[in-house]
Amino acid sequence: MFGRNPIKMFIVKLFHITPSSRSDDEMKEKNARMNTEIENLPISNGAEKPQCHIHDKVKDSEVEDIRENVCANDESLTEFEGEYYCFFHLPTKDKDTGKFEQIIKARLKADFRYIWFPSDPDLKDHKFFANADFRSATFSVVASFTRATFLAGAKFDEAIFLADADFSFATFSATATASFTSAIFSGHASFNGAIFLDATKFNEAIFSVDANFYSATFPADASFKSAIFSGDAKFDEAIFSGDAYFPLVTFSAKVDFSFATFSNVAYFSSTIFEEKSQILFIR
Ligand SMILES: [Zn+2]
Repeated sequence: MFGRNPIKMFIVKLFHITPSSRSDDEMKEKNARMNTEIENLPISNGAEKPQCHIHDKVKDSEVEDIRENVCANDESLTEFEGEYYCFFHLPTKDKDTGKFEQIIKARLKADFRYIWFPSDPDLKDHKFFANADFRSATFSVVASFTRATFLAGAKFDEAIFLADADFSFATFSATATASFTSAIFSGHASFNGAIFLDATKFNEAIFSVDANFYSATFPADASFKSAIFSGDAKFDEAIFSGDAYFPLVTFSAKVDFSFATFSNVAYFSSTIFEEKSQILFIR
């Protein structure tokens, strides 16, 4: 399936045996042009060259951009459950994690959309100078972003954390929203001591185990609209200097806002505190 197409090989051979009196430079230029044209020839057997499937839920409008900017295009594709995936998007732990981590860390662009992480990306203390875009990424094991600094925004919308997510003491920049809209946290979500300098969104996020925002700082607006907290929600000693939005949030276990500071408006309209939840607003 990946073999050279016979028409292409034939043209290449034909070209190379053509006698010519032209200079080497002219030849090289023509050769390059010809090869480009050859590359663009349709494959004769009717089958298109496989491209990375990316993700079952990838939006059509994003496909081309992701294939160009995110896919690990230097590596060959792997067939998995009937679809082809690049090294980054292959949804299995069965990949060379050493090589994976090396390539991930060497990336200058922080564009990691839909990437399937087979191991801990271990981005503790990492400084992201570019907008860190992890939208729809899947973290199959613990994701360590402890003390990471996001200088140009952090997007984790629809990211799936299958194990613990550790963002404790991370700093989110003052120039761009930190967004975890519809993110799914299947393990412990630790944001204790994190500093969110610009607006923060955890709208519709799902916290399946405990969510720890102990002493997190929100100098701008923080929105948790329609988020679901199935485990304990710790917001004790958190500082909300902008508006704090908790409408339509579901709290199913212990909710702790002890010694939290709300300097502006705190919205708790239609917030659901389930029967077994325990609410603490101790001061
Ligand atoms: Zn890909």
